[in-house]
Amino acid sequence: MTAAVATELGKPYITPYEEETLDLPLAFEWADGLPRLTYRDALPQEWMFKVLWARCGTAREGKIQWHLVHTLRQRRCMLKGLCRVCGKSATDPGGRINWIMPSSLVGDRTSPWPTAHPPTCKAHVDEALATCPYLRREAPVVCTVGDYSPVGVLANLYGEDDGGRVVETGHQIPVGLDESHLLNRALATQLIVQVTDLQPAAPG
Ligand SMILES: [Zn+2]
Repeated sequence: MTAAVATELGKPYITPYEEETLDLPLAFEWADGLPRLTYRDALPQEWMFKVLWARCGTAREGKIQWHLVHTLRQRRCMLKGLCRVCGKSATDPGGRINWIMPSSLVGDRTSPWPTAHPPTCKAHVDEALATCPYLRREAPVVCTVGDYSPVGVLANLYGEDDGGRVVETGHQIPVGLDESHLLNRALATQLIVQVTDLQPAAPG
């Protein structure tokens, strides 16, 4: 259980590759009497939490896009408690989940905090800190988390212009899973979870 999980150095699990970028044939349709964002060829599984999710490929080949997050792999990490670097479980044998948090969130150890950063297994804390520009910028603290649950999405919002074209009206906006008026016109790119029982990790 404690053996380091082998990963290809410099190829974090949640980081996308240029070749994984897909065209998004966005459109609006009517659903339950309201306009709803969709794809012209949408499949039912492209909605989760009543919001449409951004499409992306899964090849993991080509040029790494360090400044972006892979939508499907980020969501998978959040739903299953997987490590952002290797994509394997980030939960310790004792049941606590290893998680790197911005220092601004650490202080009140029991408050629930929303975050779009997935967990990081113990073996990959150093690599995550070295390679993730977002973590570096936020003065990270290595923590463990007792539990967490989905509360929202980071999304791009869309509307229609006078010519009926689908246009972006908001970029990377946090939207709560209960904000149905926004979810209808949102394209989700990352799942936001609320962590509880947050504690700084024991040294070593
Ligand atoms: Zn890992």
